[in-house]
Amino acid sequence: MKKKLVIGGIAAALLACSSGAFAAGAGPAWDYQQQGADWASLTDDEGHFPYKTCGDGQVQSPINIDPTQTVRRRTPSVRTIYRSVPLNVQNNGHTIQVNYAPGSMMKIGKKAYYLLQFHFHAGSENTVGVDGVDEHRAAAEVHFVHMNSKGKLGVLGVFIEKGRKNPALEAILKTHDLDEIGKHDIEAPIKIQSLLPGRNVNAYYNFPGSLTTPPCTEGVNWYVAKKPVHASEAQIQALRDLMWHDGYENYRSTQPRNDRVVREKGR
Ligand SMILES: [Zn+2]
Repeated sequence: MKKKLVIGGIAAALLACSSGAFAAGAGPAWDYQQQGADWASLTDDEGHFPYKTCGDGQVQSPINIDPTQTVRRRTPSVRTIYRSVPLNVQNNGHTIQVNYAPGSMMKIGKKAYYLLQFHFHAGSENTVGVDGVDEHRAAAEVHFVHMNSKGKLGVLGVFIEKGRKNPALEAILKTHDLDEIGKHDIEAPIKIQSLLPGRNVNAYYNFPGSLTTPPCTEGVNWYVAKKPVHASEAQIQALRDLMWHDGYENYRSTQPRNDRVVREKGR
């Protein structure tokens, strides 16, 4: 049973944003117009509801992070040890996803989470501000998706705000034929640092959550960096254009926090 869960987790992580027409057999097609309860009501060929959790889950992502409701804790820094390796970029019809070769990790204290892929949402999925008053949505958000040796997922979210040009994003946007759905190789390794607030992420919010795309699997350990990175207006627009479908941006609306505790560290 445990093994099955782990394999399910890996499949969910690799396909985090990949179900739909491109990833055959990954489940019923979905889009950003439907969302929430609509995702949960989609049925597969056998009449089952594979995305049920999107509707009845109690620990769903993304959320609005209300800084007046957080708990300060002495928690370890998040360290990113991401190697510069040749990468594979995928336009899967929902996002631009960069699949990472094995060997890179995020360390939380002594615990290692191995980097599987990262991908983008524009605007951001998580928002920050007082509930219902000033919930700020950043221009975009990058999600670094990891898994530890027990099969638990850990996602590092980094907000992207408008500002100076971003070298790593530029390398990704230059990928040949990126506007076409499918996998595309990047020839030169990307220096990923410009998509991170620093090698050590000393200021972050941490909370339990889920994948933000069907099947909305829960048990995901979320770390959202407080410090954003920047990209130019033209780059953000290019990214948005690539991920924009039928008038809908590729972010899921924020979900109820319910009784979750959001921990925070640093300023
Ligand atoms: Zn994501």
